Amino acid sequence: MTKHRWAWSEIDLSAIAHNVRTLKALTEPGTRFMAVVKADGYGHGAQQVARAAVGAGADRLGVATIDEALELRAAGVKVPLQLLGEPPITSIPEVLANSIIPAVTTGDFARALAAHAVAGGKRAKFHLKLDTGMNRIGIRPEDVAEFASWLVGVESLELEGTFTHLACADIPGDWEVRRQLERFDDGLAVMRTEGLEPGIVHAAASAGTILWPDSRYDMVRCGIAIYGLHPGPSTYGHIDLRPALSVKARFTVVKRIGMGEGVSYGLTWTAPAPSVVGTLPLGYADGIHRVLSNQMGVLVGGVRCRQIGRVCMDQLMVEVVRGVSAEVGDEVVLVGKQGDEEILLDELAEKAGTINYELACGLGARLERVYKR
Ligand SMILES: *Cc1c(COP(=O)(O)O)cnc(C)c1O
Repeated sequence: MTKHRWAWSEIDLSAIAHNVRTLKALTEPGTRFMAVVKADGYGHGAQQVARAAVGAGADRLGVATIDEALELRAAGVKVPLQLLGEPPITSIPEVLANSIIPAVTTGDFARALAAHAVAGGKRAKFHLKLDTGMNRIGIRPEDVAEFASWLVGVESLELEGTFTHLACADIPGDWEVRRQLERFDDGLAVMRTEGLEPGIVHAAASAGTILWPDSRYDMVRCGIAIYGLHPGPSTYGHIDLRPALSVKARFTVVKRIGMGEGVSYGLTWTAPAPSVVGTLPLGYADGIHRVLSNQMGVLVGGVRCRQIGRVCMDQLMVEVVRGVSAEVGDEVVLVGKQGDEEILLDELAEKAGTINYELACGLGARLERVYKR
């Protein structure tokens, strides 16, 4: 429990270690493993997750922004740090000074990176990103030959790897995935024809790692699954993942209200009978989306109780099931296990009309995290 607030998240680092080992066991020996810790480790805390993942065998870490990489370097993380996208040219001095490995997707960035490397008397490592059909970022198939033939001659740039990203890897057998992998293989062949060795080849995020053996190549990049969350319902039953995140709170108020009395802004819930109502000190500013109002459950004494009334910014109310004891200070679980009951983040995500990824990031916004080993 935290000292300043009766609401917190708990992160089980042994679950993260278990998930990394379990994912790694799917890949051929020698396949590298990138643990993706962008967005503050999907709301779990990037530094702690990074240490747990590296301790369990991750070779390197993936982040989205320079600031995320700098935070890890400042915390003493020594493993290779890779950016999943191309940062602005203005960040290149930081990239080189902190040995951050950027993704390259444009000629302008590549030329600027080369020039800075020459000026600093260094070779700059990078990974080339090929766009094979997602149409987000990356060199387009028709531009690969020209780009590769130019890169071959640039001494100050060291192509450490080549990668792509799959748009539909959570759909088993999907032929868009096959098409992307074919385009990727074609791009790699073109590079080799131009005399450019692609280096570490990678395409799989969590879904690809679990469902598409052909996408594992030389390295996998796992994010959501290291946190014990499934990339989609299609991977349920394919792998034993343990959710690392729980969200807990203590009742600040427990009271009886009479039949017909309303609860929270707008009085959207009214008691159909005399009821016991408990108040918890967390709300939508903590990542409990307001759209979940009157939709979600919580666990009190191992029993599922309904959240009632609108979720406020910093508080929410629950109706305590008749016969369940509830007192001020009692621990309530919003995500995770209590007794034999469990509330999965996936259940909340479905009710909120989103995915576990988004909810996990939001739950990292304000709640203090307590780590368990
Ligand atoms: C975020 C990201 C990943 C990790 O994806 P998960 O589905 O969370 O495993 C991998 N690769 C790239 C390029 C990403 O942006």
